[in-house]
Amino acid sequence: MQFHMQETMSKGLKAEVNEQLDVSALFKGRQDVYRTGPLHVSLQVAGHEGFIEVDGKLAVDLELACSRCLEPVHDHIVIPFSEKFKAATSVVESDEFTEEEISDFIEVKADRLDMKPYVEEALQLFMPFAPLCSDDCNGLCPNCGQNLNEHSCSCDTAKVDVRFAALKDLFKE
Ligand SMILES: [Zn+2]
Ligand SMILES: [Zn+2]
Repeated sequence: MQFHMQETMSKGLKAEVNEQLDVSALFKGRQDVYRTGPLHVSLQVAGHEGFIEVDGKLAVDLELACSRCLEPVHDHIVIPFSEKFKAATSVVESDEFTEEEISDFIEVKADRLDMKPYVEEALQLFMPFAPLCSDDCNGLCPNCGQNLNEHSCSCDTAKVDVRFAALKDLFKE
């Protein structure tokens, strides 16, 4: 997943990246991420005068904790990937782009463009924020931890919405 900046740009090289990336280390220590598949990277890389264009998609199978009941949720996400990279010394010669668009190009300081960190960053940005096993998941009892999708518990707090729990305490006295 590495490209020589100058050579790719000056020769207008085209390449395809089809790789599987082990991304499990990225989520080490995240208790809400049970398993991350390999990340399937399929990208088209094209060298142009002054910049490199990379387009394609990333796909991954995930096993995440339901944000309410912690049961595993299986998800398959597909992430569009589209970036342009330019060397620090590049002069982008193109009528296609405005100056503002060119300022959005990612500047690569080294002469080697390594796609891996950008691909990993895209995955981290696209991770589902609050996955649910089902839209009407009842979650866990905040008092005894019972999974309320399986059966109810005898705690009288079980039906109390957490947002109202503080109010309820006020009325106790
Ligand atoms: Zn759930
Ligand atoms: Zn309970």
